[in-house]
Amino acid sequence: MIAGSKRILVFTGAGLSTESGIPDFRSPGGLWDKYDPSDFYFDKFLASGETRERYWRMSSESYAVMRKALPNKAHLALHHLEKAGKLLGIVTQNIDRLHHKAGNSPERVIELHGTTFFVSCLSCGASLDRDVVEERLSAGETAPRCTTCGGILKPATISFGQPMPQEAMSLAFEWAAECDLCIVLGSSLVVYPAASVPIEAVRGGAPLIIINRDETPMDDRANLVIHGSVTEILGPMVEAALTS
Ligand code: NAD
Repeated sequence: MIAGSKRILVFTGAGLSTESGIPDFRSPGGLWDKYDPSDFYFDKFLASGETRERYWRMSSESYAVMRKALPNKAHLALHHLEKAGKLLGIVTQNIDRLHHKAGNSPERVIELHGTTFFVSCLSCGASLDRDVVEERLSAGETAPRCTTCGGILKPATISFGQPMPQEAMSLAFEWAAECDLCIVLGSSLVVYPAASVPIEAVRGGAPLIIINRDETPMDDRANLVIHGSVTEILGPMVEAALTS
C-alpha cells in the first residue's frame, strides 16, 4: 500500500513517542496514572490560580523530558517517506516536536494540539520561548504572567475544552480529503476533534492503516491493523516499500 501511494497522510499520537522516553496518557504508567486529568481542563486553568500552579509544575516536569528526547526509528522512517516524495503531511497530536527533530519539513507537519516549546499570553497573544519561562519558574515564579500586559501565560498547547487552532484544523481536513493513503501511528483515537481527521480520510476514499499497541475504536474501518510496537513495525515497512 505504501509503495503504491503518492500522497500519504500520517496521523500520529503519543504512542509514537513512548519509545523516545515520553509517556503517553492512557497506557499503564502513562500520565493519567500520575496526574488528575481534570487539571488539564482549560476552564479550570482560567478560573483557578491553584490549578495554574499545579499545571505549570506538571508541564515543566514533562517539558524537561521532551526537551531532551530524541526521535526514534518510527519518526526517522517518516522523514524517509518525505525524502522519497510520498508524504502529503503529518498531522500530529503530539506537542514534543520530535517530527521536526527527525528532519521533516515544518510545512509538512501540522501540530493540532500545539507545541510545548513555546508559551503564549492568553490576553495579548505574545509568544515566548519556553526556556525563558522555565528560567523564571526556576527563579521562584509559580504561575507566570505576561511581562507586557500582565495576562495569564500558558504553554502553547491545547488543553481539553480549549478552542482548536482553526487554520491547522482546516489544513488537516484538506490533507484528509486529498490523501491516497492514511496511516495512524500510536494513537488511541479517542481524543476529538483530532480523531476525526483519519475518519475524514476514509470518507474521502483513502485506505487506512493503523499501527498501535492496543485496539482502537477505528480498527474495524481500517484496511490493515497491526497491534505492536510502532518502532519495530514502521521502519522495516517503509524500507521495504521504498526499495520495492
Ligand atoms: P493516548 O495516550 O490516548 O494513546 C496512545 C496510544 O498509543 C495507546 O493506544 C497505546 O496503545 C499506543 N502506544 C503506546 N506506545 C506505543 C508504541 N510504542 N507502539 C505502538 N503503540 C503504542 O494518546 P493520543 O491518542 O495521542 O491522545 C492523547 C493526547 O495525548 C493527545 O492530545 C496529545 O496531545 C497528548 N500527549 C502527547 C504527548 C507527546 O507529545 N509525546 C505525550 C502525552 C500526551
